[in-house]
Amino acid sequence: MNNSRRTFLITSIGVASTLALSRQAFADAPKVTEADPTAKALGYVEDASKVDKAKYAKYAAGQDCGNCSFYQGKATDAYAGCPMFAGKQVASKGWCSAYNKKA
Ligand code: SF4
Repeated sequence: MNNSRRTFLITSIGVASTLALSRQAFADAPKVTEADPTAKALGYVEDASKVDKAKYAKYAAGQDCGNCSFYQGKATDAYAGCPMFAGKQVASKGWCSAYNKKA
């Protein structure tokens, strides 16, 4: 095997394993719990129907993470990332006070 082919192969293997790792890291990202300090600060709940409506008057029925502009997954994904909770996943049926309707 000549050198450039060997370098190519080694580089490809490196790229492939890096991609596999980052995908793995995302799938394994922990889910935000309601006990999480950021969740408490933002009034995050796993189930939007349980929003404290007295405290969060801006909440309207039908709002949830799945139709929020910050939700990083598809509307059909049960959990996905959200920039309010870096490195964690929120529930598509969840809600927090940073909710912003997807255009
Ligand atoms: Fe859900 Fe949007 Fe709040 Fe993120 S910002 S937790 S997607 S409602």
